[in-house]
Amino acid sequence: MADYEALARRLADWSGTIGEFSQTLDREKVPYLSFSKVTCVEFCGYRYLLEYVKLQRPRPEPDYFVKGQAFHETVASLYRDLTQGRPADENALLDVLRRTLPHPTIDVENAVRLAARNAYQGFEVIGVEEPFVLSLDGGLPPCVGVVDLILRRGKTFFVVDHKTGKKFNGADDLQLVLYREYVRRQYQAVRCLAFVDEYRWVPNLATIRKPAFQRTRIPLGRTDWRLATRRLAWAHRRIQEIQKNQDVWALGECYMCPYRGTCPKASVGYSSYW
Ligand code: SF4
Repeated sequence: MADYEALARRLADWSGTIGEFSQTLDREKVPYLSFSKVTCVEFCGYRYLLEYVKLQRPRPEPDYFVKGQAFHETVASLYRDLTQGRPADENALLDVLRRTLPHPTIDVENAVRLAARNAYQGFEVIGVEEPFVLSLDGGLPPCVGVVDLILRRGKTFFVVDHKTGKKFNGADDLQLVLYREYVRRQYQAVRCLAFVDEYRWVPNLATIRKPAFQRTRIPLGRTDWRLATRRLAWAHRRIQEIQKNQDVWALGECYMCPYRGTCPKASVGYSSYW
């Protein structure tokens, strides 16, 4: 609990982004968990070692990181405008995008257009890009994260995750379970529904045959928090082993890994799948 309280105080005083916050914790070797850490160590232990222990960034920075980040910042601006009573305006949002990403590609612009056209209407915007720290039981370190969007209608809360990519990949329940748990604790929410808004990178909205935007409600049950904490506990044990040994077997699908260009074990990870 002491770790949680210290981290929560630190986050409350933090003026940078949640990304900068977690990078600072990584540099200082402060124990914490996050959805990104869990999925990283599940994907490949060696990737975890590179990213969170050796603090190496993938080079070159993948295009989808840059585009996804610019998109998220632009959509955050859309919902901040809505809280001020300013309606969604595609052209104003494209200006915001160009300030974040000076030469955006047409697919990012199209995703922003779709976000404006499909903005949630008739909800109270409670939080936009809201960072959080959650205390966890069972001797686990606190969990750090950020909720893309929190809405409320009447007594019902809604958590929304925005995803971008070449195709719709669906949601990982863990992320939404963490969001829901935060909203339950922070806002004493009795009912909280979870949604994933997915945007496909497309170059021309007029010629697509399949939708480029999809909104999906993710059904979460009462037992999901227990299952989530088991998954967090497994990841924590694995992380501790990696930190202790400073080495690990490489078992990832290298063709999907942003480190594949520079990782010395890339071929080992790749061959293990063939
Ligand atoms: S390239 Fe392969 S082995 Fe290397 S970190 Fe990525 S998944 Fe692991």
